Amino acid sequence: MSKILVTGGSGLVGRHLRDILPAAEYISSKDFDLRSEADVKTLCEKGWDHIVHLAARVGGIIENINHPAEFIEDNILMNTLLLKYARLNDVKRFTALLSTCIYPGDYERYPLTESDLFNGPPEKTNFAYAVSKLALAAQIDAVNQQFGSRYNYLIPCNLYGIYDKVDEKRSHYLTALIGKIIKAEREGREFIQLLGTGHPLRQFMYADDLARVIKGCIENDITESFNVAVSENLTIRQIAEIALEATGNSQMELRFDDSFPDGQFRKDVSNEKMLRSFPNFEFTPLADGIRTVYQYYKSHNIV
Ligand code: NAP
Repeated sequence: MSKILVTGGSGLVGRHLRDILPAAEYISSKDFDLRSEADVKTLCEKGWDHIVHLAARVGGIIENINHPAEFIEDNILMNTLLLKYARLNDVKRFTALLSTCIYPGDYERYPLTESDLFNGPPEKTNFAYAVSKLALAAQIDAVNQQFGSRYNYLIPCNLYGIYDKVDEKRSHYLTALIGKIIKAEREGREFIQLLGTGHPLRQFMYADDLARVIKGCIENDITESFNVAVSENLTIRQIAEIALEATGNSQMELRFDDSFPDGQFRKDVSNEKMLRSFPNFEFTPLADGIRTVYQYYKSHNIV
């Protein structure tokens, strides 16, 4: 059996992956600090066949605006060290996660395809994070070109899932939204307040869907790089309306605080290339995924 290492094992994607691929080894920053060359060197000498690199400094829009220096520094360090020592230790397969926010911030045509990746600067609000991920794409392409390896990267759209961070400052939009619905229910409040105008468009995917794609890449030796995203591209308001409906709160009013930045207006990507490798893939419908997270948070008293 092949030896698989998953970095970022305590994160949203890592924990969803562990549920369906328990035989891999999962690490977090408590086991190895991937910004430390000594740690990465030791880690990569353990004879891995496949490294799935999920670890990253990740955050919502406010964190990205307040900590750009740490986002770019931490991610470039982690990615560079891990990729270098994977190669030096002859690790056969390496799969990294990027993000659709690395695509050009403003483009002439949507949905974006993999060939648009280097066609323009990413959006300002997460520029530093996005550049660190763009660099990782270039690094993986360069290693493949020079050393003939078959390393790859997946470019997922926005994610949500039962294992996401729930505190309001650090959580992603959809997780924060579900948390706000639960709090409003508890306080008997008939409205929730969301940040921004509600106009931007987003693709939101249940993290288990991404985990199934990663597992499929490992098991079927898929070495191509591609976007991983649902087909639907909805406004923030539409997503909130689906969430209210799915949680039995359609009477709740949505209020938007437009003094907060919206972030990128749209960044929808095509899933055509992914579906060539996974022709029968079934994404979790948004309402079903939201209901699962909502019920999980309530039954585990997470919010
Ligand atoms: P997450 O929940 O924030 O988890 C981050 C993981 O990285 C944690 O396991 C964390 O360990 C680990 N980590 C952070 N700094 C580290 C360090 N210095 N050394 C070792 N490990 C470190 O992230 P996620 O949402 O699962 O994201 C996984 C990947 O998907 C990331 O590469 C991210 O860029 C990408 N992605 C995420 C989304 C999204 O919406 N969430 C969308 C597109 C792409 P600790 O728990 O110990 O801190």
